[in-house]
Amino acid sequence: MRKIHLAALAAALMLFMFHPAIALPVASNVAGGIALVTLGTVLDSPDRPSAWLGDRPVWVAAEDGHWIAVVGVPLDTRAGRQTLRMRANGAERTTSFEIREKHYAEQRITLKDSSKVTLSPEDEARALAEIERIQALKKHWRPSAETETDFAKPVAGRLASRFGLRRIFNGEPRAPHSGLDVAARRGTPVGAPAAAIVLAVDDYFFNGKTVFLDHGNGLLSMYCHLDRIDVKPGETLRKGQTLGRIGATGRASGPHLHWSVVLNGTMVDPELFLKRR
Ligand SMILES: [Zn+2]
Repeated sequence: MRKIHLAALAAALMLFMFHPAIALPVASNVAGGIALVTLGTVLDSPDRPSAWLGDRPVWVAAEDGHWIAVVGVPLDTRAGRQTLRMRANGAERTTSFEIREKHYAEQRITLKDSSKVTLSPEDEARALAEIERIQALKKHWRPSAETETDFAKPVAGRLASRFGLRRIFNGEPRAPHSGLDVAARRGTPVGAPAAAIVLAVDDYFFNGKTVFLDHGNGLLSMYCHLDRIDVKPGETLRKGQTLGRIGATGRASGPHLHWSVVLNGTMVDPELFLKRR
């Protein structure tokens, strides 16, 4: 018994001493935000616990001797108590966290090209197939010892539409804005906000030329409406490396970057990754 305890203590100390300190994003316990849920200490459970929100695995990071679940909160989450399923020391249990009310702004948009609002049957079939492909990409999970969350802004420019904006196109309510728009001139280079592996590149009906980056542990980022893509799937990018150029491909009223960040399969507010704790 004593031997096992000593082994566990040694493992915990090794992890505590040699695990690089990970700067976690800023917590924001709202729909579309990030909840940081403490799952116990490294001493109590030397092996990294696992956690799930619904059926989606959640990233569990080590910080200051504690295991912290970094939970992406879906934008359609109601305020109140949420349940997180976890497994530590071989036993499964649940823990909970609180989500506050947040009212996102509303915007009415008039698009002259109505073909991008009311779709033809062919365009609708294409768009639906692409949405399924994007949904599958959002679930991508690559375990990684390091996940950098101190993001650099991918492009210098004015922040236009913010994450969560409730949009009404030509009088028809649409899904809330699932990313952050940054306005910049066509051709401006767009850089990786942190080290990443290129997960996918594609040309979509709505999103136009798009790059998906994988930062590890279910943290992904997506860059849309690019004029040109400069990377290929599987390529490793360092922070700041150019992935493409600003454009207006797909459904875009002008050149801008639509930037989305995905955590445990759900879109969260990219601005949370630009703030420092
Ligand atoms: Zn956008």
